Amino acid sequence: MKVDDTIDTFNSLVKRRGFIWGPSPEIYGGLAGFYSYGPAGMTLKNNILSLFRRELRYFGFGEVECPTIMPEIVWSASGHLDRFIDPVLKCKKCSTLYRVDKFLQENLPNLMIDGLSFNEMEELIKKHELTCPKCDTNFSKIEEYNLMLKTSVGNNVTAYLRPETATTTYLLFNRLDQDARKQYPIRVFQYGKAYRNEISPRQGVLRMRAFDQFELQMFISKHQEMEFDDYEEIKNNKLPLLDWKLQENGIDIPNSLSLSEAISNKILKKPAYAYCLYIGYYLTKILGIPEKSIRFRQHSLNERAHYADDAWDLEIKTRQFGWVEICGIHDRTDYDLRRHAEYSKQNFEISMGSDPNIKEVPQVLEIAFGIDRIVYTLLETAFNVEEGRIVLKLHPTLSPNTVAVFPLVRNKEKIRSLALKVHRELLKNRVGSFFDAAGSIGKRYRRQDELGTKWCITIDYESLDDNTVTIRERDSMNQIRIGISDLPQTIQNKKIE
Ligand SMILES: [Zn+2]
Repeated sequence: MKVDDTIDTFNSLVKRRGFIWGPSPEIYGGLAGFYSYGPAGMTLKNNILSLFRRELRYFGFGEVECPTIMPEIVWSASGHLDRFIDPVLKCKKCSTLYRVDKFLQENLPNLMIDGLSFNEMEELIKKHELTCPKCDTNFSKIEEYNLMLKTSVGNNVTAYLRPETATTTYLLFNRLDQDARKQYPIRVFQYGKAYRNEISPRQGVLRMRAFDQFELQMFISKHQEMEFDDYEEIKNNKLPLLDWKLQENGIDIPNSLSLSEAISNKILKKPAYAYCLYIGYYLTKILGIPEKSIRFRQHSLNERAHYADDAWDLEIKTRQFGWVEICGIHDRTDYDLRRHAEYSKQNFEISMGSDPNIKEVPQVLEIAFGIDRIVYTLLETAFNVEEGRIVLKLHPTLSPNTVAVFPLVRNKEKIRSLALKVHRELLKNRVGSFFDAAGSIGKRYRRQDELGTKWCITIDYESLDDNTVTIRERDSMNQIRIGISDLPQTIQNKKIE
């Protein structure tokens, strides 16, 4: 295998070490947009989720879980039935579907396609005599293609697989409000699968048709959006902000601004929204993603959802795909609750301040993470090749194995059984240990470097005499000797930061 600092090496590592496999099902040729996680990838993902859940207690968020299938009326109310669509062209002969805006942009790279109407796009197709690339046949008229996956439940009830978790959280509003006992804002998150029937997903694990979302919602009053206690605690933090005015001037380097500066310069309008940006930033930083690879990019008015008052994407710089959105922070106003109140005939007006006579439908501020994109960008930013050695520099709290334990030689029973004893003792202390006796010691080190294991422990002849082992640290490759009885405590002390 060629070991160099390239994307090919990285992509092969992701498969070879059991992080992500696909497109699935591989043995039947694979279907674009579907991927599976191997044992290493799943442990990494679970470690990210554990960290997020632990930290969100600090920010006061509770967790809910809703069904992933909901009846049609939910999606009429949410607006997805009418608006969650891509314009498509269908070949009259071979029936292949093409997403019109992408197809035009590829064929007419010098034209501005974004924002054109269906008619304008059809004119372009006629003018440039564009035909199906597969069979050179003309297209039928542009059609609307809904990205939701439709199904039917029980006795022919039309339903859809959810395209986002957020909407299903909003449906709980009455329950959440009772549960919150007048303590506002209501803070809640939901983790789970969402489904989008992309026409021809191309960017690997970044465009999955079945993917994991981790979406935080705050139900908050208009008054509290402007006068938000928790903002005081975080307002001096500096964030890399690329607002749309900078983008309009062709600038793609963010300004490092404190949140209070961003508010006073009117780059951000609401302190509570600034607080949401901070939570997004905080959760990204604790994963160990380097500061220089993070930016917040504000949506332009055209890019924003029709109901959104403000929207920023938290993006991570990657080599394979450029800047990748891993989190969207959206000011959804009272749009969602108003729509669901209308369609469900429920009353969502509540009093959120000191005066019980003043009632309002709460505003929603949302922090929406894509967990698969976090896994991908984390792996890419942790990937290093140093003098021919591949090493994933993952935070030890996140890496699939915290430590690996090796008997120096595998055919010496005493060494092997002591190594197993050390391994089991670490597991008993709930240290994520992996036992490996296969292959040369050098190969075992390489395998753990590629999995991001921070410490490798080797049991050798000396261990039999004095109950000590060597610990090798992943990044420096320095080795120290340490007593076996001190191992669990030493690892725990180093791990928690
Ligand atoms: Zn065709």
